[in-house]
Amino acid sequence: MRGKLFVISGPSGSGKSTICKELEKEENIKISISATTRPMRKGEEEGVNYYFLSNEEFQKRIKKKAFYEFASVFNHYYGTLKEKVDEMLDGGYNVILEIDVQGAMQIKRQNDKAILIFIMPPSEEELIERLTNRKTESDEQLKLRIATAKEEILFKNKYDYIVVNDDINRAANEIKDIINNN
Ligand code: ADP
Ligand code: 5GP
Repeated sequence: MRGKLFVISGPSGSGKSTICKELEKEENIKISISATTRPMRKGEEEGVNYYFLSNEEFQKRIKKKAFYEFASVFNHYYGTLKEKVDEMLDGGYNVILEIDVQGAMQIKRQNDKAILIFIMPPSEEELIERLTNRKTESDEQLKLRIATAKEEILFKNKYDYIVVNDDINRAANEIKDIINNN
């Protein structure tokens, strides 16, 4: 049986990647690996966190219609590769796209069966603290990501579920229940 498609969005620092790492431990769940033009962070690996592409390569793939959705987020391109997602769905896996609100709205328009989940931080202060403590962003990126958080949160009511990431295990379990009950 073909797997189901889920989308997880939320402001930068809300804990999407951490939650996805937990969800990936489930044998019926796969997290889609996006393509991006943003520089690789320390500790990231090609083909594990992202497929890191040049701007030129990214544009080529847009022309080839290789993406289900793509968007410019925090001044870089990010996109979901059709082929990889289809392979996983055909293999019977439930597939999670960890993508921004613009991408999520594109997926919703294409596929009314996709289930959309929005991750909220427990508070604005906690979001800023988590993002700052992560120490992965330049001052400029940090400011941009905090400023964008409020705009992203405005989209939360367009999602099927809102999950507060107060505690990683609790939030991951809530999402596992959503996945298994849909
Ligand atoms: P995102 O992928 O949404 O940008 P991350 O998963 O990178 O966010 O999480 C941002 C930071 O917050 C990371 O340093 C992560 O370890 C930490 N973090 C995530 N969830 C929690 C939580 N429930 N409690 C405390 N810290 C958390
Ligand atoms: P980061 O640079 O922190 O890894 O991701 C920045 C933002 O880009 C996050 O909101 C993340 O969800 C989003 N993102 C990651 N991959 C994709 C993608 O394939 N498409 C879209 N639209 N957004 C993505």
